[in-house]
This record gives sequence, C-alpha cells and structure tokens, in this order.
Amino acid sequence: MTLPSAKGATPVMAQWFSLKKEHPDALLFFRMGDFFELFFHDAEAAANALDIALTARGTHAGQPIPMCGVPVGTAATYLARLIKKGFKVAVAEQTESPKNRGKNQKGPLSRAVIRLITPGTLTEDELLNASQPNYILCIIPDLKKNSSNLGAAWIDISTGIFETSYFKSFQLDDFLARINPSEILAPNQLYLNSYENRQTILNEISNIKIAQKQLATLFNINSLSALGDFKNEEIIAGYELITYIGQTQNGRIPQLSRPQSQKYESILAIDPATRNSLEILENNAGNNQFTLFSSINRAITAPGSRMLANWLSSPLTEIDKIEARQKGWIYLYQNTQLLTLLRQTLKGSPDISRSLGRISVGRGSPRDLASIRNGLHVARKIAQILSKYEKKIDRTPPYIHKIKHYLLSGNILLENLTKALMENPPLKLEEGSIIKEGYDEKLDTYRHLHQQSRQIIIDLQQKYCKKYDISTLKIRFSNQLGYIIELSRTAAAKLKDCPELILRQGTVNLARYTTDELNILNTKILEASSNSAEYEKMLFDKLIEETLRERDLPLLANAIAVIDVLQACATLYSSQEWCVPTLTNDTRFTLKNARHPVVEAALQKPDKFTPNSCNLSNNKRVMLLTGPNMAGKSTFLRQVALNVILAQSGLPLPAINAEIGIVDRLFSRVGASDDLANGRSTFMVEMTEAASILNQAGPRSLVVIDEIGRGTSTLDGLAIAWAILETLHNTIQCRTIFATHFHELSQLTHHLPFIQNFTMKIKEWKGSIIFQYEVVPGAAEHSWGIHVAQLAGVPTTTLNRAKSVLQTLETQQYGSQISLPLSDTDATVGNQDHSQVNFDTKKRKMLNEIETAFMEINPDQITPMDAINILYKLKKVI
Ligand code: ADP
Repeated sequence: MTLPSAKGATPVMAQWFSLKKEHPDALLFFRMGDFFELFFHDAEAAANALDIALTARGTHAGQPIPMCGVPVGTAATYLARLIKKGFKVAVAEQTESPKNRGKNQKGPLSRAVIRLITPGTLTEDELLNASQPNYILCIIPDLKKNSSNLGAAWIDISTGIFETSYFKSFQLDDFLARINPSEILAPNQLYLNSYENRQTILNEISNIKIAQKQLATLFNINSLSALGDFKNEEIIAGYELITYIGQTQNGRIPQLSRPQSQKYESILAIDPATRNSLEILENNAGNNQFTLFSSINRAITAPGSRMLANWLSSPLTEIDKIEARQKGWIYLYQNTQLLTLLRQTLKGSPDISRSLGRISVGRGSPRDLASIRNGLHVARKIAQILSKYEKKIDRTPPYIHKIKHYLLSGNILLENLTKALMENPPLKLEEGSIIKEGYDEKLDTYRHLHQQSRQIIIDLQQKYCKKYDISTLKIRFSNQLGYIIELSRTAAAKLKDCPELILRQGTVNLARYTTDELNILNTKILEASSNSAEYEKMLFDKLIEETLRERDLPLLANAIAVIDVLQACATLYSSQEWCVPTLTNDTRFTLKNARHPVVEAALQKPDKFTPNSCNLSNNKRVMLLTGPNMAGKSTFLRQVALNVILAQSGLPLPAINAEIGIVDRLFSRVGASDDLANGRSTFMVEMTEAASILNQAGPRSLVVIDEIGRGTSTLDGLAIAWAILETLHNTIQCRTIFATHFHELSQLTHHLPFIQNFTMKIKEWKGSIIFQYEVVPGAAEHSWGIHVAQLAGVPTTTLNRAKSVLQTLETQQYGSQISLPLSDTDATVGNQDHSQVNFDTKKRKMLNEIETAFMEINPDQITPMDAINILYKLKKVI
C-alpha cells in the first residue's frame, strides 16, 4: 500500500515516516511512552486483525491520522496474534534517554528499529508452540541453465537446527509439507503453491564464493567440505538465511548446529494430500488433537515432543538408521530401572534449546541462563545413569553411546554457572539478585555498601528524631528526590531555628526536607546501588559469552531430546500390545492384528478397537476392499499407512507383529473432499490426486485409496476405478489397498493375478446391520446403503420408498428400456441412478444374447467355419 508523502509531517511523524520507509512490509510498532502505536495503513490492518479500537491522532496533509496502539506490558500477546496471521512487525524503541539530553536539545527522542519480528525468526516462548519446531526456509533455484532442481536450507532459530537438501522441483510440494516452514525466503518467480502467503521475497541471490567463505568463517572451519557434501544452491540458501536472520535480529546471528545435508531419498516421500489425509501432526481442523502425534506422544519434555514431531514428519528409508533408533529404545525398555531413573531425571529438564536460542540473539534472561545450568546438570545426570548401567549390562547400543558422548560437553560452564547463578534468578536483569554471594568479591563489596547504607539511613533517622524531637520524622526514598526527610505539616510547624534543613517539596499535608549530610549520603548510596547493578550486569554478560562459546550445546540439547523420545517409545512399547517391526529391503508387507492408534484412543469404553491384519507381500500385493459405509474401511486404510509411518520413524507399532519392506513413497487418499475454495469439485480433486499417484508411485511405494470415482456417473466412475486399479497392478506394481463401493471390481481377481478380495464383516440382525469392523476375505454381497441410511435416521417413509425402488430395480426383467416405479408424489431418480440402471440393463441384455447364442449351438453338428462365425457374433455382442 502506498504511504502518503511525509511532507509537512510533525517531527515525531517525520521520524515514523523514515522508519516505516526502511520496513515497508512490516507493521511498525512505534514506541511512545507506555504504548506501541501504529499509524496509517498499519493501524487499520492491526486494528482489524486484533479487533482493537481504531482512533486518530492529529492530522497529516489535512486528514486525521488513523492510529491504534497496544500497551508495552502486554505487547507479546498482540504480537503473537499478528505473527500467527502472517504479519511481520518492526519494533521501534526509543534509543535515547531523556536523562542524557542536554538542556537545550529539542525535538523527539531518537528511535530505531531494534528488531524485526517475522514468523520464522521467533524466540519467545509466548510466540512459539512448545511441542513443534519453527522453521525458516530458503529455496534457491539451480544456478545452472536447463536445470529445474532446487537447493534448500532450513533453520530453527529457537533450537539451532540447521539442515539443507537438494531436490527436483516437482518434489517441492512434498518437501514444503514435510518441513512446514513458518516463513520461506525465496525469489519472486518461485511458485510456492499453498505456501505462497509465507513467502518473503529474496531480491538478489548471493555469490557462491562469498556464501562459502562466510559460512566457513561462521563455523570456524577452513572449508565447508569438512561438514559434508553440499551443492552450491544449498550453501547459498544457508547463507541467505543467516544474512536474513541477522537483519531481523539487529545484526546478531543465533548459535547454530553445523549444517547437515539431507539426501532427499533418505526420507520417506509423503505428499501434502497424504499428510492431510493421515493427520500426522495436525488434524484437518488445524489443531493437534486426535492426531497420530498426540495419540502416541509420551515425551516428558517439550524438546522431546519437538523431536518426536520431527521424527514423525520425516520417516526414514535407511534400515540401519531405523534400527539404530529401535535398538535405542528396546535397550531402555529391557532395563526397567534405567528407564524409571531416566524418566525421573527428565521431569526436571528445562527447554534449554529455546533458552539457548534467546541467549544467542541477545534476548536471554537470567532465567534462560539458569535453564542452561539446570539442563547441563540434567545432561550430566543422564550420562551418569547411562554409564552406571553400561557397566551392568553389556552391549549398549552405539546410538545410546553416541548420545552419551554429547551429554558430557560443557563441564566447565556447568561448574561456573553453578557457582555464579542464584538458584532461582528473576526473569528480568533489572531486578538484580542474579549472581550468588561469594562469586565475585567486588560485587559483594558493592552489595555490602548498599546494605550498610540502609542501616546508616535508619541510624540517621533516629538521630534526627532525637535532634528535632519529632518521633514521627521519617527518612524515605522517593524516585524523584532520592532519600528525603518527611514530616507532617503539624510536625514541621514545630521546627525552629534549623537552617540546616532545606525544604525540597511541600504538599498540603507533608513537608519534605534534605540536609547536606543526607545529600552526601544519598549520592554515595545511589552510586553503590548503580555500581552493583552495572557490575552484576557485566558479570551476567560474561556468563552469556561463556555460554555462547560452548559450541556443542545445541548437540547436548538434542541428545537430551533424543533420550526423551527413546524413553517415550519404550513407554509406549510397554503400555499395550505394541511390537518392534522388522524392516527389510524387499517389498514384503505383513501386519498382524494392527490397530489405528488415534481411533483406538478415541473409542469410548466399553467399545473396543477391532484389530486387523494385512498381507500385501509379493503375490498378494493388491488388496481390494469392499463393504458398506461406516464399516471401518477408511480406518483400516489409514491404519496401514500410519503403521508404515511409525515403523519407518523407528517407533513401535500398534500390532502383534509386523514385517515391512521399506516404502519409498506413501500415498494415502482417504476421505477426499471438495476443494471448493479453489474451485475444484470432488471429482476434480479425486482425479488430480489419482494422476499424481499414477505419475509418481513406483514398485516400492504403498498406495491406499478410498472410493475413487465417486464424483461422476456410475459408469464413468467404475471405468476409471477399474483402469486405475489395473495400472497400479500391472504397470506400477506397488503394494496397494483399494477400497471401493463398485462391487463389480471384485471380478478383477479372475483376470489380475495379484489382487485379493476383502470385505468388512457385517452381521444382519432383525433387519438392521451390525458392523464387526473385521476385514475378511471375500467381496461384499450388497451395499447395505438403505441400512446405513436407516442408522443415520432417514425417515421411515423415505426408507420404505427406497426399498421398493430397489426391489423393482433388482427384479427388473431384461429389456432395453427400464420402467421405474413411480411414487404417488411422482418421485424421480437422479442421474446417477439412471446410469446405474442403464448399466445393469445393458449388461443383462448382453448376457441374454450370449445365452441365446449358446443355446442355439449344437457342437456335434457345426462345421469349423460355423464355429468361427459364432465366435465373431459373440465378440460383437460384447
Ligand atoms: P467407512 O470408511 O467404511 O465409512 P470408517 O472407517 O470411517 O468407515 O469407520 C466408521 C467408524 O467406525 C469409526 O469412526 C470408528 O468409530 C468405528 N471403527 C472403525 N474401525 C473400527 C475398528 N477396527 N474397531 C472399532 N471401531 C472401529
């Protein structure tokens, strides 16, 4: 939006205009006294987004200036709401104190933007979700001509995670859905699809040489190759991110783990539609209730929860890495005492990653330092516990061994922080009482002086009481005047001949005096107190520096989080019937008595979840599932896909036993819905998704599809479902579960060797149906639509009418035209039913003709020529 010209602005507004010009994309929070004020379009946008009053302040170019404001004290909650809605905020503070101004200096106090708050660069707990990472991502198109590949780097500034990857541009959507970044730095021409509104435009792409050099300097290494194999685009993306973060944090670069390049193929590919359909971290309503994550999360700490979320959103494809995780938690599970001790220790573990994030961008509080100290202490304790059991039990898994190594860093820092920091320091530095007594001699001297001065004041007060013979005389501290003598007016009236008392202030009831003696004391006391505060701040800053020098702290924080996830897995494994899946490099696939963890957790007692098995190994790789609505088909489909995610994330499975040949891509299309917002009908959504599966799936993929071909006429739908199923079976040859209401498809088992028919078991009881939720071999006999309609509460008259229509359709004799039984109200049947009717009629007619042709044949009497003619005739009928 264009700003009005700054011409003729008042001095304060001129300052606002100049700061706004530096940050045109951000809302400018302009500090005025105890408020952050917003003006012009910023005010309109913020008032609207926050639902606060829009007012006006003065005029500009003859027009009132729109204004709104938020109190500084509660700004964080407003900021959180704005950031959540995708705004960026530039915070302009006063950078000059009125105290330091010369008497003749005029004009507004100077202000500067001290921080740019953007969704991807947050560090405050109030602005972050404790159990999910917060990534900022940068994407750089391949620098070579004719290449459409992309390089990416992503950072969680609040935990220091720094990763990169390089992939093909068609994989971008999957990638974005996996990382789910809050903010994306990318050139304007890059199309980010549904993530477009999180884009921050990258206007210029840096030179690779500069990027390499700067990153190497940042990580204190000669060359980046020491850290692994990076493509140029990954390096530039990393450098752009760091530069941008520096700009938002007033020049400070957070402490980051060394960058790690992630091979695209090492992660199970899950496209956005599959993620939506499976509700892994977030449900379709946009929160994390009833998700895979929420149902299995047994982590004790917030960093543990974030690590688990990370594992679940990026399942692996390399067996050794998956098994390393498995062995880690099995080890803990097998040692109950060890597990119990770890759990107890983790309970006191603070969120040191996020504290470290704040400290590294200069916003660390004394409490953050305490959290580092406590975290280091927890790390030490965990390492001790692990060592103790290492001696008792041989063969500690290498994974745990490695973690233990990281837990041991920061020894000297821990010692120093323990010596220096108060047990529970205050949140704010200004409150003092951060450093322990006995840590620094000079600080102790200042503090004693400060404390002594209190006694001196008390003594002086007593002395004056006696001297002036006024027992109510008090020496008080006033912010304005420092220590002063305070007397009531009546007491003051008694004073005679006291030239040493200098009147400083008087009200109706009170008189305030000072003396030369008190003045001198005042200066001394104030000096001692400001010296002690300044000196304490200096010591605090030193501790911060020392903390930041400990470069392995992010790894240590990570190690505690991994231990927490491993204990969470062991806990899950010990709770009910959970198993350790066997992962293999072939395409076998068996799940024995598996369950859907979310549906299972949501079932109200006494309902119990019915487990189901599934075998898609080699010669049974396609499962065709029929059954009425509400019988449990989608639950079964999702459950199989979720089990793959759990297995490849290295977690236990809700099953008795499982063998899974590594899946490279997972496709789940269950419960496709209208995408009316984007102008796409159910059918269009279905077909787009089917197309993406058929174009991307390979022989190692797993595809679970529910009800394809619903959104069009029956005949079309059946034909499409048929052809898709054939393609999956013949061409792609992947493991597939295909749920359908087209019972005709079950005939395909006669033609396609690797398909097996399954159906949901149903019991009929007194004209109604009871769902058994059991997947059994065979095909559904009827669709039970009317029964389900009855369960749903469709009125009896309508149900009766449906039954009669159905009966007529079922008993209709052959013939080209079908006559529908009309109701009293002249009911009509919708298009879809017409096509179903036509389809059945055609089929019957064809069967009739074939039957007649066969009846006419007498094999003993026909010549070979006749036989050929009959075959031609039959072929024509079909
Ligand atoms: P469909 O896809 O066949 O219409 P759903 O899978 O949506 O049916 O299941 C409908 C409901 O049935 C679920 O919400 C759940 O409450 C219950 N359900 C499904 N599967 C099971 C099961 N295996 N055990 C117990 N209840 C189940």
